[in-house]
Amino acid sequence: MINLANRVQTLTPSTTLAITAKANELKAKGVDVIGLGAGEPDYNTPENILAAAYASMKEGKTKYTPSGGLPALKKAIIDKLQRDQQLSYQPNEIMVGIGAKHVLYTLFQVLLNEGDEVIIPIPYWVSYPEQVKLAQGVPVYIEATASQEYKITAQQLREAITDRTKAIILNTPSNPTGMIYSKEELAELAEVCREFDVLIVSDEIYEKLIYGEASHTSVAELSEDAKNRTIIINGVSKSHSMTGWRIGYAAGDAAIIKAMTDLASHSTSNPTTTSQYAAIEAYNGTQEPVEEMRSAFESRLDTIFPKVAAIPGFKVLRPQGAFYLLPDVSEAAQKTGYSSVDDFATALLTEANVAVIPGSGFGSHSTIRLSYATSLEALEKAVGRIHEFVQSKW
Ligand code: PLP
Repeated sequence: MINLANRVQTLTPSTTLAITAKANELKAKGVDVIGLGAGEPDYNTPENILAAAYASMKEGKTKYTPSGGLPALKKAIIDKLQRDQQLSYQPNEIMVGIGAKHVLYTLFQVLLNEGDEVIIPIPYWVSYPEQVKLAQGVPVYIEATASQEYKITAQQLREAITDRTKAIILNTPSNPTGMIYSKEELAELAEVCREFDVLIVSDEIYEKLIYGEASHTSVAELSEDAKNRTIIINGVSKSHSMTGWRIGYAAGDAAIIKAMTDLASHSTSNPTTTSQYAAIEAYNGTQEPVEEMRSAFESRLDTIFPKVAAIPGFKVLRPQGAFYLLPDVSEAAQKTGYSSVDDFATALLTEANVAVIPGSGFGSHSTIRLSYATSLEALEKAVGRIHEFVQSKW
């Protein structure tokens, strides 16, 4: 009998990946399942990026690189942060890793001691609590309700802070809510963090996917103090449709970045060399494909949002960014005879043949997450199926 390490005893697999696996299983059996579970853009990586990757391989750039990333990629990231956020960083304040997910994992490994608390707003991205626990940290949750647009307030933050609080995770635009913190809201949160000397982990991976009047502010832009206590997490996965390339980065305090880079030197050596050359082109090359993708998501949202809002028992806020809708479906679940939203989501898959992610994976038990990173045709069909399913059982 093999005894696994204590640290993985409570580890739960990602709900998002579990539903996708179940949907694929049904598809393999010939069932016409429409997947609204996707956490990635449905576009291929832009041509100029593919070409840059291929050219780098042909030039023989297929060897190890420095652990924290190629100097040219760090420079491209520094230029991006200057261009988009007017923030100035040095190369020793940037660490490139294997996707934002692994960068976050590395960050918590170097930051947390046993019992250190990390504040995580609910609804949260699935991996935050698990990553904090894997680093022996303790997640401390703050519930952000729909009535507060799924955003925490400075008062809530103040009440959640203890003498063990090390950091807070802010994710704006948010997965799964699609909400964006305004400059004023961020300033209030940053002020509380200054008062209690709390670090800010600012996950900005959906920065480029924003709609309507919304604009993205990084908390690090707000003041010198905010910049010094913020570690920005970002990458090319969502902005440039490069999820499979696995390139993300952290920007922040040089001592934290050095520790992360040292840890990477013993765990990953370096992010895939070809992917790094691709990411250089993603940041330095044309940004037109980014805008094309953004505007396609926006027009899908315009079409699909009223249809989702019209499903009986669905209450949904219009998201400002990312590519998810997070309707509260507790009334629909109850009226159609399900004792939980999890069961309702399972029935949507097995009876209506639409795969959605139950909000319980995000700490939000009354919601489901629908991704609109799929064709408009599939979206309309899927939402139609959900509507019919709810109506027929009501
Ligand atoms: N942060 C959030 C909020 C995400 O939704 C995701 C991907 O789903 C990530 C980080 C990880 O992105 P990457 O593909 O760069 O690891």
